[in-house]
Amino acid sequence: MYFIANWKMHGNARYIEKANSVIKLLKIRKYKNIKIIYCPPYTLLKTFFDKYKNSNISIGSQNCHPYSDFGPFTGSINSKLIKSTGSKYIIIGHSENRNDGDTNIIINKKIKSALRENLKVIFCIGETLTEKKKNITNKILKKQISIGLKKIKKFQNIIFAYEPVWSIGTGLVPKRNELIKNLKFIRKTILNLSNIKNIKILYGGSVNPNNAKKLAEINEISGFLIGGASLNAKNFIDIIKKSIN
Ligand code: PEP
Repeated sequence: MYFIANWKMHGNARYIEKANSVIKLLKIRKYKNIKIIYCPPYTLLKTFFDKYKNSNISIGSQNCHPYSDFGPFTGSINSKLIKSTGSKYIIIGHSENRNDGDTNIIINKKIKSALRENLKVIFCIGETLTEKKKNITNKILKKQISIGLKKIKKFQNIIFAYEPVWSIGTGLVPKRNELIKNLKFIRKTILNLSNIKNIKILYGGSVNPNNAKKLAEINEISGFLIGGASLNAKNFIDIIKKSIN
């Protein structure tokens, strides 16, 4: 299972120490095969990498600029620069970035640029509350997937994260049946584009130590993308412990 910590716009050099306790946990046999990825702000990526490069945790960025090459884009960071920090992953398509103007076409460019650098993409998709209420979740997911992945062949370097927007940071989690239905739809839609084996679909949205066990029991879920709860090492560890029997 994957456990991805999305720190969003939080953190300082001291926060990085929080990973020590997670590294200790990974030494226990039961947890050896899980995959931990920390996604701190850009400013901490290199420090994080230097400190933990010999451990079995990985780092990733939370976004990137769509332009692959170096260029006149003040204040921006592209996948080449992210790669140079030691990062192996990039979150792309997070709803907070979609909200800031990232269209499916921009997201497609970002994914292509990340894959060109051989980075692994954590591709976020999910419907808003209005879309859910209008009963157009499938239509939205299909559009996000098909445009986001247009002209992409390297699907094996993409991890999907289903994050209903109404669930992020709200404490609300979809009902089990609804979640399974949407995860199955996502899998089917991906398989229609490429018959890759081993599709990984994570769930994200208000995962915490109280709901992790039940969510982890859902076969269609290969791990979690965790925002708020990942800022607290104890909560993050509790989520891992509750998810793995
Ligand atoms: C997220 O931002 O990707 C997320 C899932 O946040 P939270 O866990 O806080 O809902």
